[in-house]
Amino acid sequence: MTYSLETIVSRAKRRAFAYPGSEIYGGLANARDLWPYWVQLRRNIMDTRWRCFVQERDDMVGLDASILMNSRVREASGHIANFSDPLVDCKKCKARERADKLIENYIEKHQISLTDVHVEFGVKSLAVESRTFEQQTAFLSVFKVKCPECWSSDWTQPKKFNLMFKTQQWVIDWEGKDIYLRPETAQGIFVNFKNILDTTRVRIPFWVAQIGKSFRNEITPGNFMFRVREFEQMEIEYFIPDDVEIGLKMLKSRKEMSEKWRTEQIGIKKDRLRFREHDASELSFYSKGTVDVEYEFPRWRWELQGIAYRTDYDLSQHQKTSGKDMQYTDPMTGRRYLPHCVEPSRGLTRAILTVMIDAYDEEEYTNQKWEKEIRTVARFNPNIAPVKFAILPLIKKDEIQVKLGEDLFHKLSKKYFCEYDDNGAIGKRYRRQDEIWTPYCITFDQQSVEEYHADPASVTVTLRDRDTMSQQRFLVSDIEFMK
Ligand code: ATP
Repeated sequence: MTYSLETIVSRAKRRAFAYPGSEIYGGLANARDLWPYWVQLRRNIMDTRWRCFVQERDDMVGLDASILMNSRVREASGHIANFSDPLVDCKKCKARERADKLIENYIEKHQISLTDVHVEFGVKSLAVESRTFEQQTAFLSVFKVKCPECWSSDWTQPKKFNLMFKTQQWVIDWEGKDIYLRPETAQGIFVNFKNILDTTRVRIPFWVAQIGKSFRNEITPGNFMFRVREFEQMEIEYFIPDDVEIGLKMLKSRKEMSEKWRTEQIGIKKDRLRFREHDASELSFYSKGTVDVEYEFPRWRWELQGIAYRTDYDLSQHQKTSGKDMQYTDPMTGRRYLPHCVEPSRGLTRAILTVMIDAYDEEEYTNQKWEKEIRTVARFNPNIAPVKFAILPLIKKDEIQVKLGEDLFHKLSKKYFCEYDDNGAIGKRYRRQDEIWTPYCITFDQQSVEEYHADPASVTVTLRDRDTMSQQRFLVSDIEFMK
């Protein structure tokens, strides 16, 4: 069953996942503060990724480049000149939209084919970025594309809107030099290419991974956290020989790795994933192949990751702009060349959201009084659940149950994120843990107390499984060694 985003978002707020930022001052549009369970979920997803792609490989290194960089980096990467969206205003209600997205949605909704667009405007490509502003204006008016807010179709001319947040560096602001908050993390890897070669033992082919914040002054943020102005990315650059055949093979294998990681490690539903290859007309001029990994959710399709074979474009741009030699010398042949690069660029924030959507479920069950009830349960891979064990003494006033519960909490929390909760009816405590994903609830009861009096080493507890709600008794000492 598919639940609406609103349902999932309202649970997320209720259960300490994410909340509007600066709320006591009326908030800041689209900024969100991440609350305890989101923070833990994010950490777990990052950890699985770091383990699979960095720790378990000997040809991979990690990097954490700074967010603020010399502006010439952005000049070389083309972000200053080209990182912009076409902005249009609705003349009637003043809603602000991206012309390319309005056109993209219209084409998808009305199933307009490439030939129709070609016939109307001589536009060869559905790659909206490649349309001129005149063509966008013509499209909006000929097809009478409606404003999603007021349904009129009277748009201003598209204006170029650069998405980078600009700030200044120096103490006195009027003497400042423009610098930018990074709109993606990848350039930090390219500018460190030579340093990494000089200071580590990696040789081509090798990979560099980075996880960090990026900032984009989006025209139309929204849909909870699918499009925000401050988000996190997990990017990798694969530096490979300057051989297109190798590059295309790498692109294909990266697509397979992406699917495996998403379905096996973080548990995204396979039938919601789409792999969309850019056709020749959509490709950037320097790219030899690009695949978007998309997530299909009722009413939208979201890009989770772009995997692009960028050839030697980035290194050659930095070589040209900085005047520094970025070439690699093959240790066997002595040949010098600019390595090619395949870049999987994935959004961490969107990955977390897809995990939350796919895990959410509601189901009917029969409670202890034989009444039918609905429980909300987030079913998820125990690897990434924010809380792995909840420790619940059945009776708060029982000193032994509390002591045993606290002792176990202190032991398990050295390895796992755990919660101790002795407040309220046990059924309610279970429901709460179901909602926040906790795969296992451990309950100390009267039997545990009696066992403690007989022999402290013989204490057992019930272990409740989130998905089946079944309970089994285990020795506490066995639980301490559970994985
Ligand atoms: P979109 O078409 O959705 O704007 P994009 O093509 O601009 O995405 P990329 O520049 O390829 O995105 O960035 C790589 C990844 O970073 C995206 O696949 C997405 O997961 C994530 N991402 C990009 N912009 C945002 C945003 N504003 N909020 C959250 N995640 C984002």
